[in-house]
Formats: sequence, C-alpha cells, structure tokens
Amino acid sequence: MKNLIRTLIINIVISTLAGLVSLMSGNNFWYTFSFFFIIQYILYSVIVTLIVNFYREKTKQKELDKLENLSTILECAYCKTKNLLIFVPDQYEKSNFVCTSCEKENTVILQFVVARTTDDLPPINSILINEDKK
Ligand SMILES: [Zn+2]
Repeated sequence: MKNLIRTLIINIVISTLAGLVSLMSGNNFWYTFSFFFIIQYILYSVIVTLIVNFYREKTKQKELDKLENLSTILECAYCKTKNLLIFVPDQYEKSNFVCTSCEKENTVILQFVVARTTDDLPPINSILINEDKK
C-alpha cells in the first residue's frame, strides 16, 4: 500500500511537471497531465507484471533445480520393450523417451496422488489398465 501511494505521488508529480511545461509552451495543462498520467500508469503496470513474472519463473526454476533426477523402467507403448527412463519428478512436465527397440517416441505423463495419512489410498489406475491389456 505504501508503495502504491508513493508510485501515485511520483506519477502525479511527473504528470504535473509535464503539464506545467506544456502550459508554458502554450498548450493545455490537463491534456498533457492526463496523457503522462495514463502512459506512466500503463508503463508501471507492464514493468511490475514483467518483474513479478521474472521472479516467479526464477523461484520455480530454483525449486526445479532442487529436484533430483529419478529413474524408472517403463514399457514402450508400442512394442512393450522395457526402457530405462531418467526424469525430473515434476508433474507439470511431460517426459519423452525413444524406445531402444522400435525407436518410436513415447510420452510419459506423471501423476502424483496426495492423501492424508489417515485416508485409504485410491486404486492406482495405470496399473489396473496394464493388467487389463495382458
Ligand atoms: Zn518400442
């Protein structure tokens, strides 16, 4: 809130100075004041959005850097050959691997299930689906 008021005061001061310069040049004070006020407001919004997004990305990247790679053995979706997959355990990222046997590309989608320790664990669908196919 303090920052908002300070920004508003700076914006008004700059717009007033621009308006005064405009007035001394024989132009309308309020047109110039309004123009500068709006332009500064837009610039401020854009810059703040960019800065917030930049730091958000940086924070997310730092969290991702903390994650260590995991490895697992997965069956190829085409030929069922077992392949070793090394991946970052981020459920928002898809992992791809190329099968060592048929050389087709497979997509791996991670899904983590979070439960309270007192809850019964839900059935794991992917295992059930695999069992149906056999
Ligand atoms: Zn394959």
